[in-house]
Amino acid sequence: MTNGSKVYENVGRQFKKAADLMNLDPDVRKILEKPMNEIVVNFPAIMDDGRVEMFTAYRVQHNNVLGPFKGGLRFHSSVDIDEVRALATWMTWKTAIAGLPLGGAKGGIQFDPKQYSQSEIERITRRFTFALGSNIGPEFDIPAPDMNTNAQIMAWILDTYISTIPPNDRQCSYHVVTGKPVDLGGSEGRDKATGQGVVFLIERWASNYGFDLNKATYFVQGFGNVGSWTARLLKPFGATLIAVEDASGAVFNPKGIDPAELFEYAQSHQGVSGFAGASPVDHEAFLGTQADIFVPAALANQITADTAPLLNVKLVAEGANGPTDTDGDTILQDRDIHVIPDVLCNAGGVIVSYFEWLQNKRSEFWDLEEVDRKLHKMLMKAYGRVKDKSEEVPTDWRTAAYIIALSRLEAVYQGRGIFP
Ligand code: NAD
Repeated sequence: MTNGSKVYENVGRQFKKAADLMNLDPDVRKILEKPMNEIVVNFPAIMDDGRVEMFTAYRVQHNNVLGPFKGGLRFHSSVDIDEVRALATWMTWKTAIAGLPLGGAKGGIQFDPKQYSQSEIERITRRFTFALGSNIGPEFDIPAPDMNTNAQIMAWILDTYISTIPPNDRQCSYHVVTGKPVDLGGSEGRDKATGQGVVFLIERWASNYGFDLNKATYFVQGFGNVGSWTARLLKPFGATLIAVEDASGAVFNPKGIDPAELFEYAQSHQGVSGFAGASPVDHEAFLGTQADIFVPAALANQITADTAPLLNVKLVAEGANGPTDTDGDTILQDRDIHVIPDVLCNAGGVIVSYFEWLQNKRSEFWDLEEVDRKLHKMLMKAYGRVKDKSEEVPTDWRTAAYIIALSRLEAVYQGRGIFP
């Protein structure tokens, strides 16, 4: 069983739990169980030494009854069809929970970008975009950054896409991707949006439960976009970062690690390993860090039957997609460890992507203050809906969030019917 199939199996179990509990219409259930479209492309790209290498990539479009397909693109050697199916399905729930007029999709190229030069990555990205052709589009399916992709990659996708459509459509198609550089129609605040959202939600959770963030300690897995922004934005609240793990290893300092210093170091040393302001720790010790909050912001299936018993925290704020599997969830619930689930916790990214899409469509530019204010408002509404639903049912927050998403989708299917 690949890691991707384990992740996808987990998506199915989470879905079943919520669908059973809410008595989801059996026909709608059948429809939502499967993605609408699955695109697999095998394409060549020219390497710096003139060789041709073949790549396999995926775009899974899970559902678009609420609006155009929306979801990130991942560059990673573990990307496979099941992983992308799982991530696409989560996007459908996430956009529905946030109340966005968007559906769910995800894509990825199966390769390790660290083994390739910048010019090779550019050619791979452009060739992938070309291979996708009209399977993406500003009113149809809109990619965004995810693991190992960033604003530069989005700029190449934009450029390739608009260079291959009729000239008349080019200027009005910038919303084919979000997470672009600001100069190319990106939104202020998109870069930090996911981490900003995680911080807004932790802050709200803390004030709800009388928890003093100023005295809190936390640790983070993954120090890329989501993990590092979460840490840098939590600092003003007085919370102390005491451990960080990324692909290079894990570091620990009970007296505190300065997020901005660690970020500078990780940028220039390709990871946190070797940072002078902390000591190395192994993975198990890292997971067992005695702290108040754990922010997983890297990979799926990190909190499982094996690892959930190791955690010594009060709150898990899921920056990553799918960091906790259903066995892990059960153990966390039994141990009274609260979870802000991924489909809510990391929704800041897709919310500001939606803002970017809107700004492009309206030829507007919002300043950072406006973006942050609107993000806060949308996330707090979603938080309130999930918390209320979890008390009303009653159930855990993940299942409550799923029930909100599934109810919205069920109402649309029941209203529209099936054509033809
Ligand atoms: P990124 O590529 O910027 O960073 C990924 C981080 O994970 C890096 O620090 C990397 O070293 C670390 N990592 C990789 N393998 C690891 C391992 N085996 N152990 C520990 N750390 C490891 O990616 P990102 O955009 O920050 O995405 C991180 C997670 O957040 C993913 O699950 C992604 O789907 C999710 N997410 C991202 C966004 C976004 O806007 N970027 C939005 C929502 C959810």
